[in-house]
Amino acid sequence: MVTGASRGIGRAIAIAMAEAGADVVVNYSKPGPAADAVCAEVRRLGVRAWAYQADVANEEQVNVMAEALRKDTGPVGILVNCAGITRDKSFVKMTRSMWDEVLAVNLGGPFNTTRAFLPGMFELGWGRVINISSIVGQWGNFGQANYASAKGGLISFTMTLARELARKNITANAVAPGFIETDMTKDLPESAKEQVNALTPVGRMGTPDEVAAGVAFLASPRASYITGQVLAINGGMYM
Ligand code: NAP
Repeated sequence: MVTGASRGIGRAIAIAMAEAGADVVVNYSKPGPAADAVCAEVRRLGVRAWAYQADVANEEQVNVMAEALRKDTGPVGILVNCAGITRDKSFVKMTRSMWDEVLAVNLGGPFNTTRAFLPGMFELGWGRVINISSIVGQWGNFGQANYASAKGGLISFTMTLARELARKNITANAVAPGFIETDMTKDLPESAKEQVNALTPVGRMGTPDEVAAGVAFLASPRASYITGQVLAINGGMYM
């Protein structure tokens, strides 16, 4: 189950998971053909795929999705919390609604989905929760007090889940990407992109596939003794 899988990093994760042999549920929030297109790509890899619309910030919609999925696919073993948004402004200009919206999707979303899907993992006796945090949650960022707080909170949430769920054979890890080429970053001014490249030892932004590879590893049986960790995929920008 990958939230926010209709575009960007989530889409790449859905495809990487399918390449590894998993059936994939593609969650998205806005109506449109994108999620169905991802499902079609996933099916071409020989596994099953379902698209489910639900705003992860809306607990009721998440619960309805989880209930419907339970009937269609059975319990979900791997949950990747990838849905995320930005509403950037320097803190003094940031409105309450910009704060609330980002916290509701980026931190409230994982709360809603994890609560909804854990019972299925308990039933399976096995599970993986992988939260897509950000380098911004590790070192802050000008204009992103809301986003940094949500992504930093997501790391602490992950560590706590790891402690609470380890004995249930469920691991919880976070992935903290640096600056990745997606819709989220495409409107950054050229000067900001140049600054990112200059601050990144690898010298460029990352690709969604480079993040997806780390997620697929954490979801795999090879990562069974890894829990409560933050895998930084950032070209060395923060270490
Ligand atoms: P993106 O290209 O803007 O895609 C965002 C995805 O999230 C879309 O599929 C979108 O679907 C979905 N989404 C947004 N709000 C949602 C909601 N309320 N409920 C369900 N789905 C929702 O973003 P991205 O760059 O791939 O980012 C993916 C994740 O990686 C985010 O958590 C982001 O914070 C994190 N991240 C990104 C970067 C980066 O540089 N790009 C760096 C670090 C971390 P709809 O279009 O249907 O809303």
